[in-house]
Amino acid sequence: MALTGLDLFKLLPKTNCGECGVPTCMAFAMKLAAKTVELAACPYASEEAKEKIGAASKPPIRLVKIGPPDYEVAVGNETVMFRHEKTFVHPTALAVRFSDTQSAEELAHLTAEVREYCLERVGEQLRLDLALVENVTGAVEPFVAAVKAVAGGTGRGLILKSDNPEALDAALQALEGQRPLIHAATPENAEAMAALALKHKAPLVARAESLDALAALTARLAKLGVQDLVLDVPAENPAVALQHNTVIRKAALKSSFEPLGYPILNFVAGDDLPALVADASTLMCKYASILVIDTLAAQALLPLMMLRQNIYTDPQKPIQVEPNIYPIGEPNENSPVLVTTNFSLTYFIVSGEIENSGVPAHLVIVECEGQSVLTAWAAGKFTGEKIAAFIKASDLESRVETRRLIIPGYVAQVSGELEENLPGWEIVVGPQEAADLGPFLKLQAAA
Ligand code: SF4
Repeated sequence: MALTGLDLFKLLPKTNCGECGVPTCMAFAMKLAAKTVELAACPYASEEAKEKIGAASKPPIRLVKIGPPDYEVAVGNETVMFRHEKTFVHPTALAVRFSDTQSAEELAHLTAEVREYCLERVGEQLRLDLALVENVTGAVEPFVAAVKAVAGGTGRGLILKSDNPEALDAALQALEGQRPLIHAATPENAEAMAALALKHKAPLVARAESLDALAALTARLAKLGVQDLVLDVPAENPAVALQHNTVIRKAALKSSFEPLGYPILNFVAGDDLPALVADASTLMCKYASILVIDTLAAQALLPLMMLRQNIYTDPQKPIQVEPNIYPIGEPNENSPVLVTTNFSLTYFIVSGEIENSGVPAHLVIVECEGQSVLTAWAAGKFTGEKIAAFIKASDLESRVETRRLIIPGYVAQVSGELEENLPGWEIVVGPQEAADLGPFLKLQAAA
């Protein structure tokens, strides 16, 4: 029977030392119960706790880390079938495919594209995560040369795809310390690939033609001592891949079937870009942890990046921007000062309207746990006292001559409290709708 948070808490030291990364043993017990941490994170767990909690605290889908320390990608550790049940944890890692048949010039050009690709959306920078290098030649030297070129050119973690253990060994040596993912152990070469993974402390893909064969293979690899595995089961079409992914996720979460409790890798390819985007989107929704694509076309990357951001945003946590004082346009010491909350959408709508108005301004963004204006006010997080304290703690008063603060029209009621807490400032109630900010600012500027 699964242990509850309270059962788990009783087995912990109860010293609240915080060394596990959460402030109290109770909070750690709750995370253990949710299977989002492992008992190993508590250095003081007793032998009894280790024995009793052991399997109960193990995440149903193993967390696997790939890539160099400065660009590490984590996949797995998921605990739910549907995002609305809680949240999906680690976004699908997008990997671009290269081969050792590509020329040095081609690799230099394409790896630079991977490195530089960045889509900025609601305050986040969305990038490509990994690169796969395929040993198409089957030879050692061209593979190692391509691996070095792709690792250096992209700066990303690599997936090394080869059937040749010698080529893999040489490439792994060239990438010492960069934790590439080895592709792949199969029922035919499991021992040789396991030896490589252990020698280079690298994660390993297990690839088999059916789910039964895959489960047998991962059990075999685990016995050989390889813990960080990623699953790959070939599928003749996306519908079958979707079915495989769903069965794997269900087996891991609903039946605690350990042999399939690992992240999943899928390939999507083809010249038909709309079909490729459709297939990749399907697998991203259900449940690809790593998706290997063979295109850098902007019209394919844009929808995939946006979809991924939407799926992997925690539904319990609004997207936030950093509380700060943002210059919009090129404000000077006499430019207007406006204030709002750190809900990302609010920030982007308000800053966009200010920018469109052509009136440069200072925009004060107050920490409100990412809530919108009215919600934050109702929750007591966007009060006159809090806004005043934020402004006083900042260097705004030394930077601007302006002593007029424009507040959102929906919270006109905080103006009195603000005047009390911000002596010397005039509080001006702005419009309720951000769309009316432009005319409002122009009127203020003309006054
Ligand atoms: S490290 Fe262990 S003892 Fe310390 S707070 Fe975490 S669970 Fe408690």
